[in-house]
Amino acid sequence: MCATCGCGDDAAAVITIPHEHRRHGGDLDGDHRHDHAHPHDHDHDHLHLPVTETVTLEQKVLAKNDELAARNRDRLARLGILALNMTSSPGAGKTTLLERTIRELAEVPTAVIEGDQATLLDAERIRATGRPVVQINTGAGCHLDAQMMSGALDALDPAPGTLLFVENVGNLVCPALFDLGESGKVVVISVTEGTDKPLKYPHMFAAAQLVLLNKIDLLPYVDFDPARCEQYANSVNPGIEIIPVSATTGEGLARWYEWLRARQSLSNRGAIDDLSPRT
Ligand code: MG
Repeated sequence: MCATCGCGDDAAAVITIPHEHRRHGGDLDGDHRHDHAHPHDHDHDHLHLPVTETVTLEQKVLAKNDELAARNRDRLARLGILALNMTSSPGAGKTTLLERTIRELAEVPTAVIEGDQATLLDAERIRATGRPVVQINTGAGCHLDAQMMSGALDALDPAPGTLLFVENVGNLVCPALFDLGESGKVVVISVTEGTDKPLKYPHMFAAAQLVLLNKIDLLPYVDFDPARCEQYANSVNPGIEIIPVSATTGEGLARWYEWLRARQSLSNRGAIDDLSPRT
């Protein structure tokens, strides 16, 4: 089992280019999805390990991931690519938001790496926009990691200057820990969730550079307090920007596009090292 999240290490990730329905091998085929830094001839039930050993294993997994993430970050920087790691709970509307965003940002070269445990459904939706996309299926895994990102970049081969969206597996826990080498994280929450999400999942909100509050067209029908949610988000990440949007009606999206364009422009000039400052 993965020392960090408990997902199975026998679930090899698979990368697929949807229109070719061709699996991309790279380093991801076989048994090294998590590249666990420990031999596999022991009992995998880590519940029986001493706590100190479990912590050591977790540190090794994350250290190896960070090393690969740094390589991805260098690779993306050389290409002037702004890569945004899009995270949320399942069902917050990430894919709908991306479909609309890449259609309406027609002048911006965009590409998408999709992450889900199974199916090519989201990649097919992105493919319908005409933009390059690859799908990572993580099997039992609950997050993308830097090695999967590296394999997906090999398969996608994004053009220099691309605005790259990485739609992570729907999960607000482990994606906060696994750096992919992205430029920054955008967390999407929706008004159909609890107002207290930032307090319950503080690591993700602390790691993000932007919060998109989606489905605001449903506010009249749900018990959600946007002001309180913003207050909670600021309590774990002081000054974080929150943009209320509806990917369905388009409300608020102009501000999101402004945020993207400003950072894309800086990235193309190699002049971005912090996504956080407000435009
Ligand atoms: Mg999705």
